[in-house]
Amino acid sequence: MTPSLRDNASCDLLRFHRTVLELLAALLLSFFSAPPARGAAPPAPRRPNVILISVDSLRPDHLGSLGYPRDTSPRLDKYFKTGVLYSNAYSVSNFTIPSHAAVFWGMYPSVLDYWDVQKPPILPENVFSLPEIFQQSGYRTGAFVGTKLLSKDFSFDRGFETFELMNRFSPSSQKDAETILHWVDSSDKPFFLFLHTFIVHYPHMPPPRHNLFLSANQKKLYAGLIREAEMLPSSTTTPGFFLLQKITQTDLSPSFAAALYDGSVRFADEAIGHLLKKLDSNGVAENSIVVLLSDHGDELNEHGHYFHGRTLYDETVRALLFIRAPKNKNLPGRIVDQPVSLVDLPPTLLRLAGLSLPPYFQGSPLPPFDGSGGNRPIYAEDARETSSLQAARAGRWKLILTEGGKPELYDLVADRVEKNNLAAAPEHQGTLKLLTDNITAFEKMNLTLRQTLQAPHRPGQPSEEFLKSLRDLGYIR
Ligand SMILES: [Zn+2]
Repeated sequence: MTPSLRDNASCDLLRFHRTVLELLAALLLSFFSAPPARGAAPPAPRRPNVILISVDSLRPDHLGSLGYPRDTSPRLDKYFKTGVLYSNAYSVSNFTIPSHAAVFWGMYPSVLDYWDVQKPPILPENVFSLPEIFQQSGYRTGAFVGTKLLSKDFSFDRGFETFELMNRFSPSSQKDAETILHWVDSSDKPFFLFLHTFIVHYPHMPPPRHNLFLSANQKKLYAGLIREAEMLPSSTTTPGFFLLQKITQTDLSPSFAAALYDGSVRFADEAIGHLLKKLDSNGVAENSIVVLLSDHGDELNEHGHYFHGRTLYDETVRALLFIRAPKNKNLPGRIVDQPVSLVDLPPTLLRLAGLSLPPYFQGSPLPPFDGSGGNRPIYAEDARETSSLQAARAGRWKLILTEGGKPELYDLVADRVEKNNLAAAPEHQGTLKLLTDNITAFEKMNLTLRQTLQAPHRPGQPSEEFLKSLRDLGYIR
């Protein structure tokens, strides 16, 4: 592993703060320089394919490669040895829509207002999604998504010639896997493929062959709960929601929830591992940039909650990020420990494909692909009307700010589980101030970019179909 968490925190933090301001200045200078033209289609040289796989809700700390003691990910662990795995990757937020928005638009969700699941943003004309940029560069583009949340209502279909909703377990079913592989095989141009799976998303009911981590007593408990759920009238609730309700509203042990979650991770390992193996064996992956990511994690009662979307602790905002690129044969098996953000992924992909970056991208190409090793600040937020949370990570330090609440400052080297709040400690006031300033600088950068892009403030109107899908998922009533 490369060393990254250093003790000289104040020095690092000063540099981080400066870096944010430099980013802001660079953004303002470059914005009007070279906007890409919508509809332009230059001749396509043989560029690398891009295979982007999002495993919703997958916690990286529950993977064997990053030290998890259970055997949740044997196939993925083997695959991770063929590329670069980021051990401290962060999402920009704590739930599906804003987190994916950063990957699609290269911006923090506050810039385009990707917050309310019932208020899709109206996007400015002068921004292009990542798939749109690839499409305009001669790529064939296809998306196979496992949830209606990544919907046309939120413009996630922009730039895709093929945009299909799969079942939530995609691509584990033979049919779904074949559909995806057929789409890949039928391409004579470089392609951009986005694949999203809900396998690890709640409710966690892994198939029996993957449900390997329950104790004998927990197995009996699980079987009883499933029997109870199956006897309920179908109009009352689904077995999955019944199980979730039992876990969140009763005093069931967190280890029970964790064992079921881990079974779902093992399920995803098989499904994704199978697909990756197929792509390797048919030669497609040879000239492909392959990315595996998660949009956020999931709470297993570490801070009093289950699910995600309530906090910015690491169990929620730390994300899976793995990249294998064809021209980086010297990098297999590398684990990069320095903190990085999912907002850095879009510029990395364009750089690896030899395409130019739009001026509004807020991230930077990731190390080691850009040859630099410098640390940069990490920022995450949740700015829904019902919630106001911000977090910054710099080196070993992480600050969480809640609206009107106490600041929470954690030393992630000494306190990986974020239990010992050091915000009141006199010796850490300098660190607290620097991280607070860091958050302010990110806020300012987002506001400035929002104004520069003239992003509309009024939201769009969701379709009835989308609202129904939110009700089905239990997000609204
Ligand atoms: Zn999600």
